[in-house]
Amino acid sequence: MTIKHHLTENLLMGYAAGTLPEAFNLVVASHVSMCDTCRAALESYEALGGAVLESRGVDLADDGLAACLARLDDAPVADRPAPVRPVPGALPAPLRDYIGGDIDAIRWRPVGGGVKQAILPTSDAASARLLFIPAGAAVPDHGHRGMELTMVLQGAFADETDHFGRGDVEIADEELEHTPVADIGADCICLAATDAPLRFRSLIPRLLQPFLKI
Ligand SMILES: [Zn+2]
Repeated sequence: MTIKHHLTENLLMGYAAGTLPEAFNLVVASHVSMCDTCRAALESYEALGGAVLESRGVDLADDGLAACLARLDDAPVADRPAPVRPVPGALPAPLRDYIGGDIDAIRWRPVGGGVKQAILPTSDAASARLLFIPAGAAVPDHGHRGMELTMVLQGAFADETDHFGRGDVEIADEELEHTPVADIGADCICLAATDAPLRFRSLIPRLLQPFLKI
């Protein structure tokens, strides 16, 4: 497996600092569990930790290193899944914890055009969902109001920007309007996290948006 599309420094640092919404943490933990490059970067940020201590209002001179480390241990971990290495071919461990099983345990809901989704339970700051895109099918053309992270778990997809395979993360912002299309060879399953409602361009998905929670 060759991962081409990685996490940004900001996302890795945000994860290390515990400042990302839970849905984004889930994407980071899942990618890091499959990516040696990002895992090494994350470990260096976690070792560094200076920015974290600053943001938590810890005074190094007063508290000393031990106290700082203790403070770090107090960081909420429930919404920061640990990046454990995955079983080959299966979902990353952080995701399996959310689903309560592997791919066969996902409770899909149809979205239309053969596309299915499963909303994952995360905090309201951002939403996370699994997307099932049948081989050769497209997700409706849409733009974004915030940031959207899409990680490929199975199969692959391509859009106007590039081609994304297993483990790859596409980072989309308000600039990007795209139509992801799954490769012909296999159904594509993605983990997508977004911190704002998507702006679908065609009418029907926009009408359905409040019900689909995407
Ligand atoms: Zn990576």
